[in-house]
Amino acid sequence: MNLFLDTKTIILLLCIGYLFTLILINAYGHNHTKGLTVKTFVLAKFAQTLALFCMAYRGEIPDFVSISFANSILMIGSSLEMIALLSLQKALRPKTKMIYLFLTLFSIIGLQLIVLFYNKENVRIAYYSFVTAIILIPVYRMVLGKASTLLMRMIGSLYLLFILASLVRGVTALLSSTVSTSFYTPGAYQLVSLLSIYLITILGNIGFFLLMKEKADHELIRLASYDDLTGTLNRRTFTENAKQYLTVYAKKGQPISYLLFDIDNFKIINDTYGHQVGDQVLQDLTTQIKQHLGKEDLFVRYGGDEFGILMPGKDETESNEIAERIKHTLNGTISRSLPVTYTISIGVLTVIPDQYTQLETLYITCDKALYNAKSNGRNSVFRSQIDEHNAVS
Ligand code: GH3
Ligand code: MG
Repeated sequence: MNLFLDTKTIILLLCIGYLFTLILINAYGHNHTKGLTVKTFVLAKFAQTLALFCMAYRGEIPDFVSISFANSILMIGSSLEMIALLSLQKALRPKTKMIYLFLTLFSIIGLQLIVLFYNKENVRIAYYSFVTAIILIPVYRMVLGKASTLLMRMIGSLYLLFILASLVRGVTALLSSTVSTSFYTPGAYQLVSLLSIYLITILGNIGFFLLMKEKADHELIRLASYDDLTGTLNRRTFTENAKQYLTVYAKKGQPISYLLFDIDNFKIINDTYGHQVGDQVLQDLTTQIKQHLGKEDLFVRYGGDEFGILMPGKDETESNEIAERIKHTLNGTISRSLPVTYTISIGVLTVIPDQYTQLETLYITCDKALYNAKSNGRNSVFRSQIDEHNAVS
């Protein structure tokens, strides 16, 4: 099959695509993000649009513009696109920026030297293809990164495919003097080159949008699930997860323990040292307690200075141990940067749930134990029992 594509038309179509992307990303970034990431990506697309536009008029405008200038800003565009992608993954270090600055600078100098001293099209193509492949190398992080989502892996894989295509094009350009790898000469390579540029355009744009959206969604889920001040679960998310555990452990017939606790005389701390120190106490408490929790334990801030922990699989002995350990850790310790000491009172309960066990019942039962702990001078652990018919004692 021999498709003869009009290079100029295709490149101009790509330019229009890029321009619309620029307008849309700008509009999105205007309201949704303040960061540099979007601006960097927009700048990358702008550089690539300008480069393609200059390339479309090869032969009609001076070679300096359609070759030297166009390829230089295309490389700048690739570097900026990679920087934006790294920044989106929170993987952009100051050192990486410096590396990219020098990489781009040397790539441009190299290109100008080729144009000046060995201006052969196949050498330019090979050089540009290899440089692009090197610039895009960090996309491997998207494929192999432990925290990468499925979307990241897919986008990263497509970029890797593009790198592979660039390398093949570069090697072919160097080795074969009879096959033209230019996208100005009709033939198989023109088709592959233009289609791969088209693919990377669409992929880069849609992929970047989707990654931004995915990041924003994660942030929203985080904000909706966790307590802002302490990073513990909020009541709604805790309740949802805790109910699932109760159902699962009812089926397994295994115990679940539940701790409810509250800081002693927290109002006095607030009144004496100020609300800000009160906040620090809440944060200190969660940091200390998290060290005693297992992977499955659910830690919730109900509000104010009241917290709960659901411990799936922990029996009476284990939950007693943990409650005592937590109390002991916090008890009177002059914590790092805190100007005040504090204690907590804990109510604890262990049940082997059945299909009728309600989370609300666990809360009410434990609250009574907590009340007893407070009545008995605070800084103590009290256990409640729940009988077969969920009666509270
Ligand atoms: P008790 O030993 O009986 O628990 O006495 P208490 O003084 O701790 O009484 P209580 O638990 O009812 O006090 C809760 C206080 O927590 C009241 C409120 O001003 C304060 N508080 C609630 N939310 C916050 C917060 O986000 N930050 C700070 N610093 N204080 C808070
Ligand atoms: Mg309190």
